[in-house]
This record gives sequence, C-alpha cells and structure tokens, in this order.
Amino acid sequence: MTETNPFESLQEQLDDAGEYLDVPDDVLGRLKQPERVLETTLSVEMDDGTIETFKAFRSQFNGDRGPYKGGIRYHPGVTRDEVKALSGWMVYKTAVVDIPYGGGKGGIVIEPDDYSESELERITRAFAKELRPFIGVDKDIPAPDVNTGQREMNWIKDTYETLENTTEPGVITGKSPKNGGSLGRVEATGRSTMFAAREIFDYLDRDMEGASVAVQGYGNAGWIAAKLIEDLGANVVAVSDSSGAIYNADGFDARDVKQFKRETGSVSGYDGATEEFSNEDLLTLDVDLLVPAALENAIDGDLAQDVEADVVVEAANGPLTPDADDVLTERGVHVVPDILANAGGVTVSYFEWVQNRQRFQWTEERVNEELEAIITDAFDAMTDAYEADDLPNFRTAAYVVSIQRVADSFEESGSWP
Ligand code: GLU
Repeated sequence: MTETNPFESLQEQLDDAGEYLDVPDDVLGRLKQPERVLETTLSVEMDDGTIETFKAFRSQFNGDRGPYKGGIRYHPGVTRDEVKALSGWMVYKTAVVDIPYGGGKGGIVIEPDDYSESELERITRAFAKELRPFIGVDKDIPAPDVNTGQREMNWIKDTYETLENTTEPGVITGKSPKNGGSLGRVEATGRSTMFAAREIFDYLDRDMEGASVAVQGYGNAGWIAAKLIEDLGANVVAVSDSSGAIYNADGFDARDVKQFKRETGSVSGYDGATEEFSNEDLLTLDVDLLVPAALENAIDGDLAQDVEADVVVEAANGPLTPDADDVLTERGVHVVPDILANAGGVTVSYFEWVQNRQRFQWTEERVNEELEAIITDAFDAMTDAYEADDLPNFRTAAYVVSIQRVADSFEESGSWP
C-alpha cells in the first residue's frame, strides 16, 4: 500500500466541498495552502553530554478568523506535509464549531519513549525558544496533540513567560489546572466524540443503548470516548492500541481496561478479553459504531471495502483517506468527520484561553455544558447543510459550512498589497 499524503487528502477534501460552494477558484486556491511553515533543527544536550538534533515544524495555515490554533505532536512519523495537513484541518475545525481562531499545528520528529524526562524538558524548551517569535496570545496558540500533554504545555508556557518577562498563560492551552489550565480540557476531545456519536445515532433514529462499539486507539481521545460512550449505555466490544486489539462480545469496562493499560503499558493481555487480533481486524468488525482514535490513514480505499460498521465517528485527525471516504459513501456507511467529532479539544482550549484572559476560572460543569452546546450546534449546522444542498456525505457538509465561513472572512477583509 502506498501511504496517502495527508496534505493531498486535505486538498482533495477542500476541492470536493468546493464543488458545492459559490467560492471563487482563486479564493479556494488560497484556502488550500498554508500561510507559512517554520522548519527548524533543535540541538539539545542529552543526559550523557552528547548533542542530538531534532527536526521540528510549526505550520500557520490560515489566520483570517483569528489567531492560529492547534497542537504540537511528538512522533517519529511527523513530516512537513503531515504538519501542513493537520494545520489545515484545524482551520476548518475551528470554523465548523465557529470559535474565533484560525488553524496551526506543530510537531517534532521524535520517539518520546526513547528519552528521559529531563531530556524531553530540554527538547521542549528548545522548541519553545524557536517558537517564541511566532506564537503569542493573539498570534498563534499551541496546545497538546499526539504524545504531548499538560507537562509539555507547562514547560512551553514557562519558557515563553521567562523569555518575555511577563505572565501570559493564554499563549498556550492544555496546561495543568494549577498552571492556568481549564477544568475538563483533558476529557474534551473524547467528550466531543461522544456527543457526535450520540447526535448521529439520534439523527439516524438508532438506539445507543446496547449498541456495539469498536475503538481503535486507547490514548487520551480514544479511551475517554470509549468511557463516555459506554456511559450512554453502549457496549464497547473491542479496543486497541499500537500493541494490537482486544475483543469481548459481552463488552468491556472501559475504565478497567485503562487501568490495565496504565499498569502494563498496553491493552494486550487484558484478562477480560476473549480474543486478541490486529488493529486491521478491529477496523473491519461488524459493529454499530466504529471510532478510529489513532493516527491518519488508518482506513484506506481497500480496507474500506471490508468495513462492516454502520456508523464511523472520527476521534483521530484524518483517519480515513479520501478513497476510503468514497467507498464508505458508496456503501452507505455514515461518517461524522474529525473536524467536528474531535473538535472538543480545541473548543475547551478556547474556553481555557478565555478564562486565562479574564483571569477567572470556570467550573467543570460550565465547561462541559458550553462544550455540549457548541458541538450540538455544529452538528445541526452540518446536517442542515447536508439536507439543504443534498450533499453526498457529512464530511462534505462540514467542509461546506466551514469553508464558507473562512472564505467570507477572507473576502470581507479585502486584500493587502
Ligand atoms: N490537538 C488537538 C486537535 O487536533 C487540540 C488543538 C487545540 O486545543 O488547540 O484538535
């Protein structure tokens, strides 16, 4: 299988939606390219005194609707094109949930498990130093992504504030609550996936009670989604991580599986499983709901032929290639796209930024209520567009809504010579 380039996937998704929009080609062309990409090489001293170098990127895709916004991932598979794609998806994600941001994304090419905590701190601070001229509370606001979390965000905030000789917690989101982080931020991505699943089941007149669910990926997005969907009465029959998938037709206790993973490092070997198989087998299980919550390109056109789920809700960014989308549309499988189904993370990042600017902390209850309102409104905007314009699938509908918002802002701003 040739690996699909995620940046080309993004551009294809924009073109697909562009066919149904009254946005001029030159404007759409502008909205398909990042405004700028920082590429840098970090030189960092290791614990043994040697110097190691790391490639790192930050893509600022579009800032028409507000500051660039998006996470920073640590992964050996990070590439310039992957970061560009992820930053573009952020533009349309913030637009579909209608929060006042553009889109950005960053990444370091690194396998974080291979480094000590003090090495990771120096690597993170070296990246923060490089980022400093480009980021800012009204310019570009990073956040967590794959393999980064509160710890890394706290280090970036501290580096920025130290170098700028100020306090500016809103320069980064996803911090720990004691460092200006928002309550509810850790759970927010999975919570939006649960809301998206609940809404699509309701829309399709399907019962969530007793529905069978498979979740690919048991990191922050996947496991929280599994837990909250289970709380709706569904039956989580399969989950996986990079070690493989576990299955039990009677369903798992999502919290207990997470506890096992915390203790052992993976879901494989969990004693409540009746079968273990590959990630690919999980993706083709005959379930009511499939939640891909790992990385891009999990399902390509070939694998999509074998997908047996009735509904797919994307917790990961870009888990379906455009070919997979075409196949699933053709086969009548409903897909709630990533830009809506995982938008809870950036939405609560927005709440965190608002709280930081007001120097006032919201209750977790308020965070969750406002998140629910934003995700359900976005879901309704997507299904309204789907029906009104007779669109082929929900992804196209979500892009029709979001591209229009970005294009309106771009056109109304006029141009600068
Ligand atoms: N990395 C998350 C995403 O892909 C969150 C970004 C943010 O909070 O800015 O949506």
